[in-house]
This record gives sequence, C-alpha cells and structure tokens, in this order.
Amino acid sequence: MKFERNKTGRPCPAPDLTAIDRAREGLIVAHHGIAVEVLFDDGERRIVRVKRNSGHVVGDNVVVSGEVLRQLPRTTELRRRDARGGIHLVAANLDVLGIVLAPRSPSGFIDRAIVSALVAGLKPFLVLNKFDLEETAELLAPLESTYSRSLPIFPLSAASGSGLAPLQLFFSEGHRGAFVGTTGVGKSSLLNALCPEIDLKVGEVSNYKSQGRHTTTVSTLHALPGGGELVDTPGFRDFGLVDITVADLAEYFPGFEEHGQNDCRFSDCRHRSEPGCAVNEMVKQGRITAERYAAYQEILDEIEASVAESRSRNWKN
Ligand code: GDP
Ligand code: ZN
Repeated sequence: MKFERNKTGRPCPAPDLTAIDRAREGLIVAHHGIAVEVLFDDGERRIVRVKRNSGHVVGDNVVVSGEVLRQLPRTTELRRRDARGGIHLVAANLDVLGIVLAPRSPSGFIDRAIVSALVAGLKPFLVLNKFDLEETAELLAPLESTYSRSLPIFPLSAASGSGLAPLQLFFSEGHRGAFVGTTGVGKSSLLNALCPEIDLKVGEVSNYKSQGRHTTTVSTLHALPGGGELVDTPGFRDFGLVDITVADLAEYFPGFEEHGQNDCRFSDCRHRSEPGCAVNEMVKQGRITAERYAAYQEILDEIEASVAESRSRNWKN
C-alpha cells in the first residue's frame, strides 16, 4: 500500500481520534469575553477559552472537543444597538422576547419592539409591570384591545410577586427568552423575581463610562426554577433593540396581521397612498382600525426622517 503524502512530502499525521471520541455537545450558558461556560447534557459545566469577538454567544449550541468549540446552526439571533450605534449579537436560539412596560413607556416603543422581535423570528409578549400602581392598572384595557389578539399580555408586580405565576407557567412550556424595556420599567426586578440566583441590583443605572474600557459585559443564561430559560445581558437591558427598517415595519406592524405580504400592488409598498395599496383598502373597510393606521404612520414618519438625516450626514462628510 502506498503511503499518503501531503504537499510537503511528509506523511500526513493520523487524525486524533481520541479528541473526536471526546467531542460533546453543550450549551453556552455564560460569556465572559475571553471564556465561555458550556453546560453539557449530563449537568457538567466547563470553562472554554475563546478569542475576543469569537462570535460565540449565550444560547449557542456547540460541540466541544478539547479546547475547540464548533458552533451548531442557530434558529434565531437577537441583536442590540450600543450607545454609539454599533450592532452586537446578544444571544442565540431564543424563541420569545418579553417587552416590559410601565407607566410612561414612550409611545411607539411597543410597536417597534414587537416588529423587532418578529423580524428576528422571536414571538413577542407584553409584561405590564408595576400593576400594584393604579396608573398602571389603567393601561391594561387599552393594551388588551390593541394587542391581545396577537400576543400574550402579563399584568404583574415584580415588586410584590403578584401575577408572576402565569408568566412562570408560560416559560415552563419550554420557552427561552429575554426582556427589553426602557430604564426604570423594572427589568432587573423582574429577573430577580423569576430567577432568585441572579441577584441584580435594582434601581441602579449602570454607568458604562465608569467601567474600564476592557471590561466585558457578562451575559448569562439562567434556567428558571419552574422551567424555561432567561438570558440576561446588561448591555441589552440598557440599550435595547436594533432599529427597524421601513420594510420591517410595513410587513410586521401589529394590527396589520390580516394583510398578506403580496396584497399590495408594489412589493415595497409603504402603505401611504400608493395605488393598489391593500392596507389603505383595509382601513377604508374598517378591518384595520384608524388608531393602528395612525400609529403606523407616526413610526413610518420617524424612520423615514432618521434615514433622511443619516443620508444627509453621510453626504456632508
Ligand atoms: P430596570 O431599569 O428596568 O432594570 O428597573 P428596576 O428593576 O431597576 O426598577 C426601577 C424601579 O422600579 C425601582 O425603584 C423598583 O423598585 C421599581 N419597581 C420595580 N418593579 C416594581 C413593581 O412591580 N411595582 C412598583 N411599585 N415598583 C416597582
Ligand atoms: Zn400597501
């Protein structure tokens, strides 16, 4: 038998079969910047060193052999925008996104967050926190009339724990999710209430400037006591979702569900007053409410204005 030789003329080294034998599948449950923590099926955990910006995130399924990590295909990817506008991957393989609300959540925030979740392939749900306060309780009826047909709504109080059970039951169906919401709505309180092992500081707005430039945000994935999993990424809690595009808005706007993607004459229809616009027709017939259409137009105006502004900025530079 002829001995296989590679280009250098030396015999090819035999593959290290022991390493392949030991290859095991696991889940990344924490990311520390230069190392990740992998949880294996048998409950064992191992720290594996990775390069900075290696692209691995919590929620990734990986095959570990020795010190080598191989990432398995993802079902979803959740991204965030940082203070300077940079876009980062937050977590992989989530299936739900909790949008946390409290009084004075800015108008348009819910719709933008729902569209972001749907674009990323995650099912959105609403959490109306601080339900112990009267001003919050008053928000439930209007929220239900607008959203309850398309997504679950959980009114609760993270502070007192009342109303948590239905949300725990929802997660126990096997969901893996994360929370978004503006500062002060109670995301840290909610994470603490659902997952006592987290122990986050409540009411503290983290100041990134005061931390060292090389401090890396630790992201963690927590198994909830009653079932389901939650991802916590402090940077995501503070800065939130990536911006949505006009096309995303036109396709996924909550209230437009009955409208099919190809119903309008133009495939890139913005549903303003284009000829053959099916959304306009549905508004006329009362199948899309005037309130939903007005909310849509307001966000569309904002997105178009910010696109125009960044274009003119680039033009000047
Ligand atoms: P985050 O910025 O979204 O993480 O919000 P925090 O969890 O830090 O909470 C902001 C403030 O809201 C804190 O003062 C909390 O004590 C308060 N808070 C959180 N949950 C509730 C709640 O269910 N009811 C009331 N009344 N206050 C709450
Ligand atoms: Zn249209």
